[in-house]
Amino acid sequence: PVRVRYAPSPTGHLHIGGARTALFTYLFARQRGGQFILRIEDTDLGRNVSGAAEEFYNGLRWLGIDWDEGEDVGGPYGPYRCTERMDIYREHIERLLGEDKAYYCYCTEEELEREREEQTAAGQTPKYSGRCRHLTPEQRAAYEAEGRSHTVRLRVGEGEKIEFRDEVRGEISFESDGNDFVIVKSSGMPTYNLAVVIDDHLMKITHVTRGEEHISNTPRQILLYRAFGWEEPIFAHFNLILNEAGKKLSKRDESILQFISQYRDLGYLPEAILNFLALLGWSPDTEEEIFSKQDIIERFSFDRVNKSGSIFDQKKLAWMNNHYFKKADLGEIVALCVPQLQRAGLLPEQLDEARQQWAKTLVALNQDKMNCAADIVPLTELFFRDEPELEGEGRAVLAEEGVPKVLEAFARQVEAMDDAAYTADAIKGAIKAVQAETGAKGKGLFMPIRVALTGQTHGPDLNETIWLLGRVKALKRLREAAS
Ligand code: GLU
Repeated sequence: PVRVRYAPSPTGHLHIGGARTALFTYLFARQRGGQFILRIEDTDLGRNVSGAAEEFYNGLRWLGIDWDEGEDVGGPYGPYRCTERMDIYREHIERLLGEDKAYYCYCTEEELEREREEQTAAGQTPKYSGRCRHLTPEQRAAYEAEGRSHTVRLRVGEGEKIEFRDEVRGEISFESDGNDFVIVKSSGMPTYNLAVVIDDHLMKITHVTRGEEHISNTPRQILLYRAFGWEEPIFAHFNLILNEAGKKLSKRDESILQFISQYRDLGYLPEAILNFLALLGWSPDTEEEIFSKQDIIERFSFDRVNKSGSIFDQKKLAWMNNHYFKKADLGEIVALCVPQLQRAGLLPEQLDEARQQWAKTLVALNQDKMNCAADIVPLTELFFRDEPELEGEGRAVLAEEGVPKVLEAFARQVEAMDDAAYTADAIKGAIKAVQAETGAKGKGLFMPIRVALTGQTHGPDLNETIWLLGRVKALKRLREAAS
């Protein structure tokens, strides 16, 4: 049975790249009826951020990704967090030391630095000289007596072939360089390469799936599998995500929103983000672009994952989210938009029923135009401000002959309604009455009314718009525009 894992380091927010790795891994697990495991890889103590794991869980669940084993859901191969597996690592380190596949290294940072400088100066690629490779027990005791701490290094032969087939990238081959790398830091913490191998093996991971940036770690991990005498898993490395300039995305790149929480805060729909992320590097055998999670699970395969980088196309994301917005239930969109309006200070924290109904109409009128819920704020701002903001085009409309007469006639109609009678239907009737009274029709009728009330020359349904504005505000704007 397929067993795969996503193993984030809890060093910050859930990144779009990490979310995509998790998604591809999850899709593969679900397609094969396998298990998806979530493991927190917190071996780099200095970089751990408290609360980060919970943020990963929330972000993944929001996207619709669930897991079968993990520290929050349990499972038979736990603990699912590296720092809680120290006993397991210790036992395996002892084993490598006992079999003389690894050894203590007492070199200090300064000594290693000097070594690297000398090698670089001599035109060589820096690598560990192997100075502690064959220490006698006396030499070791002397270092210990000096109070030196030690790391543990794996013995690495030279010229050993390390070949593997990557499910995405095909055959990859390396040759070992005789560089005995560190597997346990002086703090006693295993390095990522050691922990990941032990964990993947003990958790019976069949496919190791991760970002391309880890390809260079894979030969070291394979050497560790060999040192332990374990069968290697299958590897699949996913391509890089690029910004719109085609450059590798750095965490500091501000041209793109990089964290899942940012999309959630702006009121994107998780189905849209999932659909978009799935197509960021993977393509199905069709021109279609809109897929439900279930569709993608059925179609997904590693061999249709790109080898080259994928550009994060923000226009496509906007288009896709807009597509999902249009299809969504109004209630769902209202629930996303109301907090945006509240956060902008446009709606009160508590909405009574009338206000709730009003907000629903407001959102309904704009549902098709939004790329995300935050768009509701600029789209509807005109309903909240005291005066409409008149553009040049609007000013020209209001300057046309006969306009004041139309506006005054409409104002009289509105004034004659009491608040209860002020409905979109009644407003429609009132505009008809203005037509009968003034003889204005078509654009000559609707346009001045729209501009006087909204400042804009186009917009959604006029009757609903006027209703949303409210009787008092509508009257005030009509009178001001007519004078
Ligand atoms: N902790 C690593 C990361 O966050 C995962 C590497 C792996 O999947 O092996 O990139």
